[in-house]
Amino acid sequence: LLPPDVYRQAVSQADLAISITDPKARILYANDSFSRITGYSAEEIVGLNESVLSNHTTPRELYQEMWTALQAHQPWSGKLLNKRKCGGTYLAEVSITPVHNAAGEITHFLGMHRDVTELH
Ligand code: FAD
Repeated sequence: LLPPDVYRQAVSQADLAISITDPKARILYANDSFSRITGYSAEEIVGLNESVLSNHTTPRELYQEMWTALQAHQPWSGKLLNKRKCGGTYLAEVSITPVHNAAGEITHFLGMHRDVTELH
């Protein structure tokens, strides 16, 4: 019913920052809102790990909690202090979902976030 191009256009044009990574959080795709919020163009960010967004002030336990959920095939959501390419920080409300293949293995992660700095 829905032409395949519409999925692509919808993700590309979504107001949320959307990225798709490999199982090690290496970015394979980022939409326009991701570039707008982070300051990285799609060309710059593809191939880098999502950890480039880390401001390195988020407690390690939070990342451990994130990865424990993701490895258990569960989605994770929470707030992270992120760093833009230019260096400024912002509070990101992040949601990460494991993407499975037909065999039930995690092949990718879908990351979605928005800048909630002004709401706090
Ligand atoms: P790391 O060394 O990467 O990790 C810190 C701890 O996390 C480690 O001690 C380990 O316990 C655990 N860990 C890391 N990688 C793995 C793995 N592959 N498997 C199991 N455990 C692991 N981080 C942000 O700061 N901001 C974001 O916006 C953000 N978005 C993300 C979106 C997606 C889709 C995914 C999959 C991850 C995202 N991350 C984000 C997490 C990011 O990949 C890093 O794990 C995190 O930034 C910490 O990076 P680090 O280099 O400080 O520490």
